[in-house]
Amino acid sequence: MTAMRPSNDQDSVQRDLVIGVDVGGTTVKAALIGSDGLEHGHSEWPTPRHLGPDAVIATTIRAIVELRAQVPEDARLRAVGLVVPGVVDAQHGIAVYAANLGWRELPLRQIVAEAVGLPVVLDHDVRAAGLAELEFGAGKGLQEVLFVALGTGVAAAVIIKGQAYAGATGRAGELGHLPVFPEGEWCACGQRGCTETYASAAALSRRYLAASGSSEVPAEDVISRASAGDPLAHRIFSDAVTALARALVHYVLLLDPQVILIGGGMAASGEALLQPLTREVQASLAWRPAPTISIGKFGGDAGRRGAGLLAWHALKKSRL
Ligand SMILES: [Zn+2]
Repeated sequence: MTAMRPSNDQDSVQRDLVIGVDVGGTTVKAALIGSDGLEHGHSEWPTPRHLGPDAVIATTIRAIVELRAQVPEDARLRAVGLVVPGVVDAQHGIAVYAANLGWRELPLRQIVAEAVGLPVVLDHDVRAAGLAELEFGAGKGLQEVLFVALGTGVAAAVIIKGQAYAGATGRAGELGHLPVFPEGEWCACGQRGCTETYASAAALSRRYLAASGSSEVPAEDVISRASAGDPLAHRIFSDAVTALARALVHYVLLLDPQVILIGGGMAASGEALLQPLTREVQASLAWRPAPTISIGKFGGDAGRRGAGLLAWHALKKSRL
């Protein structure tokens, strides 16, 4: 039960909450988030991709409804921030294309708003995660930031002058499909030699499995085996580092960021990833210094925090 507080109550801003929801290919992550960016409870649900697009929508709604039940009596739930992968039309609230979730031209904002009876903002998962790092995390106080999420895929949030830049068609930051190895392996997108084909967590696992013929090994284990001297893991990890370094060098030369932040599941590898990556980026930038490359503060939870943040932004601009 949510209790309404009188509008003239000075404490009411402190007591207001939003729900941030990050619909990922593996997990739906939701949290109650205050205007200070802090979480006041969270929940996670497996994404039922195998049951089809409608089941993913139903789980998203269920995550919101169940989290709403955790809102304290003296708090007021104001809105929902919802972030999804793929191509998103934030202005019209449409999930234009999400290959992993089976969504095409889906009016998700309206569907969820009608189901839960709250105002909803819809946006892109990685851009939201980048904003969370910018406002409350490792990018705090900075203006020019590249946030790179290394997970099932590779995608980035381009932050220019403190704002997440979506581009003309909402497709800015697709660093994962920069073709970094001419004549390289085919990518699911139809191109060859994409960053994502070598440097995503899924790619590390897949390429190690294909080369070793052993059972499936998670990306972080491929990286730790590489550090421990496994020659096959070392070759596959080196390919990943080279692919990612080439993509980052292009970005640095074009947009000159202050810092590059690494998020997503592979951020958990920390220095084992950062050290060779930084070395390779620096080696490829002959005439200028490389920006600092760091791990983000929120790891895989940045998306839901960013979702909540976008809901707060919309409320403060009276767009909800
Ligand atoms: Zn591609």
